[in-house]
Amino acid sequence: RGDSAAADRTVDSVCPYCGVGCQLTYHVKDDAILHVSGRDGPSNQNRLCVKGRFGFDYPRHAARLTAPLIRRPGVPKGLDPDFDPADPSTHFREASWEEALDAAAGGLTALKAAHGPKALAGFGSAKCSNEEAWLFQKLVRTGFGSNNVDHCTRLCHASSVAALMECLGSGAVTASFMQALEADVVILTGCNPAVNHPVAATYFKQAARRGTRLIILDPRGQVLDAYASLSVRFTPGADVALFNAMLNVIVAEELYDDAYIAEHTEGFEALKASVVDMTPEAMSELCGVAPETIRDIARRYATAERAMIFWGMGISQHTHGTDNARCLISLALACGQTGRPGTGLHPLRGQNNVQGASDAGLIPMVLPDYQPVGDAQLRAAFEELWATPLDDQPGLTVVEIMGAIHAGEIRGMLIQGENPAMSDPDLHHARGALARLEHLVVQDLFVTETAQFADVILPASAWPEKDGTVTNTNRQVQLGRAAVALPFDARPDWWILQEIARRFGLAWDYAHPREVFAEMKLGMASLDHISWARLEREGSVTYPCPADDTPGADVVFHDAFPRQGGRARFSPTRPLPPDEPVDAAYPTVLTTGRQLEHWHTGSMTRRSRVLDALEPEAVASLSPGELDRLGVAPGAPLTITTRRGTITLRSLSDPAMPDGMVFVPFCYAEAAANLLTNPALDPYGKIPEFKYAACRLSRADEA
Ligand code: SF4
Repeated sequence: RGDSAAADRTVDSVCPYCGVGCQLTYHVKDDAILHVSGRDGPSNQNRLCVKGRFGFDYPRHAARLTAPLIRRPGVPKGLDPDFDPADPSTHFREASWEEALDAAAGGLTALKAAHGPKALAGFGSAKCSNEEAWLFQKLVRTGFGSNNVDHCTRLCHASSVAALMECLGSGAVTASFMQALEADVVILTGCNPAVNHPVAATYFKQAARRGTRLIILDPRGQVLDAYASLSVRFTPGADVALFNAMLNVIVAEELYDDAYIAEHTEGFEALKASVVDMTPEAMSELCGVAPETIRDIARRYATAERAMIFWGMGISQHTHGTDNARCLISLALACGQTGRPGTGLHPLRGQNNVQGASDAGLIPMVLPDYQPVGDAQLRAAFEELWATPLDDQPGLTVVEIMGAIHAGEIRGMLIQGENPAMSDPDLHHARGALARLEHLVVQDLFVTETAQFADVILPASAWPEKDGTVTNTNRQVQLGRAAVALPFDARPDWWILQEIARRFGLAWDYAHPREVFAEMKLGMASLDHISWARLEREGSVTYPCPADDTPGADVVFHDAFPRQGGRARFSPTRPLPPDEPVDAAYPTVLTTGRQLEHWHTGSMTRRSRVLDALEPEAVASLSPGELDRLGVAPGAPLTITTRRGTITLRSLSDPAMPDGMVFVPFCYAEAAANLLTNPALDPYGKIPEFKYAACRLSRADEA
């Protein structure tokens, strides 16, 4: 591989994969990235994981779009097994940008004229920059004319954000993951950082070596168990039972922090009353944890001087995901474990810019900075900023949009960099919806599974080709810089959005993302004291930032919470069963997620040479006992069936898996896990239950 000496220049940027937001340097020669090295960023201190280090070559993959495409007449929309993304000419013809943009915008404006603004919707992308997210939601709100705009936060941490907004008044983390180094106790639950946030995992390992006691609560085992003082595996879907039993212990043994509760919270008496019957003995069978172990976890957390809770999608991706997060928030509030160094609540955000895209308003119920669309005063500020009246009704969410297409209510869509034909639950339903759209415009790097349903495909920019800011899980706003030129006839995403906006009659005239960032600052108080020039100098500034010469607040809410009266709120919960409990016909729990080497639907990492070589094939992970019971040899093919579909893939013997459960990564189109998943939604966050579906396993030769 190349070394620094072989490169003719270096460009500092940020990793495009996970929410850790590692700063990196691209080493470039002859407009090609030779290799990548870590930088001394605030969240990585020179470290990179395998994706950040080796997943840089996807933009030059042979299947990269070279020109705008328009669907050939008569070619049916959908996934054709004979379609070759590297040669899309069988299904699409090349077009000039002028023709493609006219066709893209023309189809959408015609549907709006015929059926009204709510016939259109847009999915923006947490892989794009803050500026592109801002422009995308602005286009939908001021051009399309509704709030039908969403993105993959809906599939990720929407329930966590719903609970945090309700209880604390803010949807972001209260402390960075580096604060784990200051904590005496760290609870990791429903997350697997060594796989999904690998550099954050190095901080947890470092903390454990320094004396922090890690407590891991999860149905599955994981690498970090080796660093934990206590690892507890509980029954899938029984999170609320376990956490409420911990709260019961904290109340019964008076381990709560009276002074903190009195000064900073409201609703503790209601919480106390709600958990009185949920003793460890009463909840033990439901959550599969012994009463004494529940007491032990509760005591360790409550009596620690400084304790933090980190969680991932094992918490959020349930029909009771918001309740799960409410419980974790109650634990922290009851024990006074927020607002000080080494304390806090931290949902580990998934995509590199899911925090920033959410902050920028890529959400159907709130304007930028989480300002509700129904609040006339807040809405008026944006109407003045954008000189356009805005819809006062919340729009539809990701999964709701698919239902609205089937119902004939939504007829046209713009999708930027998202891949719902792989990422949505119950893919037969989602793909059926995409095929029904009268007009679909996709801007992306490749003819993804979703783009195969498009009428017009617009070749967009990869992260190493663009300037822009992103916001990581720690609330750190960071600057990425273009390292290489756009290849072929690809264009920046912000430029594409501007051209579509102009065809909707909007007078947009941005010349560079820094001008968009300047406009964002007019509508987003969270960006106070953060300027493009400052980011060019410093690379990273954390919000909220109180002054131009401070790095921003790593830990927030020491004095007050951003709710009326400054108090956080307890939100009591009761255990609920999964939407689709296992039964005699479907006796095994299916859970889905990511792998270390692959990112989400694989559109980037499966086109990265090293990463694809490391993990080239879909596998289903099961316990050795489960494989024995099925009579399936490790490595032999296995068929998984749910009420929605069937896939066949190789089996992997994994001692970290509990009996009665199978794990499937969702990045492989040839064995798409989401053909199986349950689209039932959490009522508050509207997030699907990706972490629990009832399934049936069989040897492939018996299926
Ligand atoms: Fe990139 Fe996340 Fe890996 Fe850091 S930990 S290199 S941000 S994928």
